[in-house]
Amino acid sequence: MPIAPLYHVDDPRFPHMIVGSARLEELYSGCRWAEGPVWFGDANQLLWSDIPNQRILRWTPGGGVSVFREPSNFANGLTRDRQGRLVACEHGLRRVTRTEPDGTLTVLAERHAGKPLNSPNDAVVKSDGSIWFTDPTYGILSDYEGYRAVPEQATRNVYRLDPESGAIEAVVTDFNQPNGLAFSPDERVLYVADSGASHDETLPRHIRAFDVADGRRLENGRVFCLIDEGIPDGIRTDTQGNLWSSAGDGVHCFAPDGTRLGKILVPQTVANLTFGGPRRNRLFIAATNSLYAIYVTVTGSQAP
Ligand code: MG
Repeated sequence: MPIAPLYHVDDPRFPHMIVGSARLEELYSGCRWAEGPVWFGDANQLLWSDIPNQRILRWTPGGGVSVFREPSNFANGLTRDRQGRLVACEHGLRRVTRTEPDGTLTVLAERHAGKPLNSPNDAVVKSDGSIWFTDPTYGILSDYEGYRAVPEQATRNVYRLDPESGAIEAVVTDFNQPNGLAFSPDERVLYVADSGASHDETLPRHIRAFDVADGRRLENGRVFCLIDEGIPDGIRTDTQGNLWSSAGDGVHCFAPDGTRLGKILVPQTVANLTFGGPRRNRLFIAATNSLYAIYVTVTGSQAP
């Protein structure tokens, strides 16, 4: 049953970004921890992860919800590469995979410096085909969202996977728990969430911004914004450069200069979000047990 959304307005620009008559629609409920939404416009479908239940689910506007992949190796963040192929971060086998058109999986990344990754969490693909992903320890902390293991990486890194060589390189190594990531529309800035506060209140709950140098290096890291309720997990940008972040009380929206514009309040803790629909003006929200959607006046900045 659609419900009238509650908004928190911080800035007079925010009311123009929401549709007054729009309702927050619960499209599905029954997940244990919903994550990783990705829109496939060509198939008119949304895929998202239900991590503890070991499945990737599919929602279509007319057909409801079905299982896309089970077991999913505790898949978390999902995105698409520039050929439209699904790219998935898997906690279970601690790797990043690509699903080929025939359905087979290609392993893109599973080790760094000769040791297993921690548990890849989220990924984004740049227009040059490079894949940038985060590797916190959430998927190996217990047997709930993966398999408990002792981390072998000394740090929790942000990696860049080179589209030509396939090699992965750690591009930032000083995060506590790097999580969601998103490029600005012009790809000159990469935003990365640090959700360290999830397990220790004294650790970060902020999103950092980095300048992208030569299309492949990150420079000038700075704190872009703080999340005042819960933690930042998945993040996305719109075509105007605003940043939309998951949070404990909903979805927070920040202007390109870091000013918080407002919040869409959601009944459950939000883990991730993506823009979808034919006009990319529908915000799909993965929030604990449920998948929600709401129409907005902005447009998502990238196809996934
Ligand atoms: Mg995440």
